[in-house]
Amino acid sequence: MRVIRSAAEMQKTALQARREGKSIGFVPTMGCLHEGHISLIRRARAEADLVVVSIFVNPLQFGPREDLATYPRDFESDLELCRQQMVDIVFAPSEAEMYSSEFSTYVEETVLSRGLCGRFRPGHFRGVTTVVAKLFNLVLPDVAIFGEKDAQQARVIRRITRDLNFPVRILTLPTVREPDGLALSSRNRRLSAEERQRAATIYQALAAARELANAGERNARVLEQEVRSRLEKAGLKVEYVEVVDEASLESVETVNRPVILAVAVKVGTTRLIDNIQLDP
Ligand code: AMP
Repeated sequence: MRVIRSAAEMQKTALQARREGKSIGFVPTMGCLHEGHISLIRRARAEADLVVVSIFVNPLQFGPREDLATYPRDFESDLELCRQQMVDIVFAPSEAEMYSSEFSTYVEETVLSRGLCGRFRPGHFRGVTTVVAKLFNLVLPDVAIFGEKDAQQARVIRRITRDLNFPVRILTLPTVREPDGLALSSRNRRLSAEERQRAATIYQALAAARELANAGERNARVLEQEVRSRLEKAGLKVEYVEVVDEASLESVETVNRPVILAVAVKVGTTRLIDNIQLDP
């Protein structure tokens, strides 16, 4: 396994691989890898000749009052996990390598990124789409793999890939969860034992809403209220609970087509998101 730090070296290596007719599978991450990331890496391994995992905590997607400085990092164990998964290349550039002091170009999706997390994290998706565009140009993947855990992000990336004609196939995989339902997330490492227990409420609340939907409840506001009251009862601070159209991410009144039920909460100071799909 090679660890590449330089953007130019990454691009040169990718160009060479493509000239040799090798397909490239790409998993972008911010590191602190867990089973969710590993599911994406396994799929990349099955899809392509060469597997590239990027590890880069992208400062551009963090707001000024967000957790960039305290975002969990564990580079050595990330490398070990990548080795175990037969990753070919770990691309781990520095901030300076990605953003020169004169950096002044951004990629912005303007519709799907407006609601949900976009409303509470101004500039977040612009940071995500800009870094993903750069990474696509450096890694030159045939296929790139993302998680449904970040459902809005996956849709925004699909959209920029189509709108800007990146020659990349985008795959999204289901959320990997702890036995009690909590979605795996690098940020879970920051939870105290007590917060970790309360965080399990997130999935329990989503599952309760699914039960209601399965029993015939079609009113999106009723489903949202069910989730919200369970979260608040567990002392979680709700940022949003929203039922949105699965494709357009627009708010819906009635669950009469595939929707996503998405939440963002704060558990103490840690912000967590999760979502499930409901298909009537
Ligand atoms: P991150 O390192 O959190 O930026 O995530 C990198 C990629 O892993 C993104 O495509 C995420 O959607 C995906 N991911 C994160 N958590 C999970 C999970 N629990 N299950 C599946 N994919 C995940």
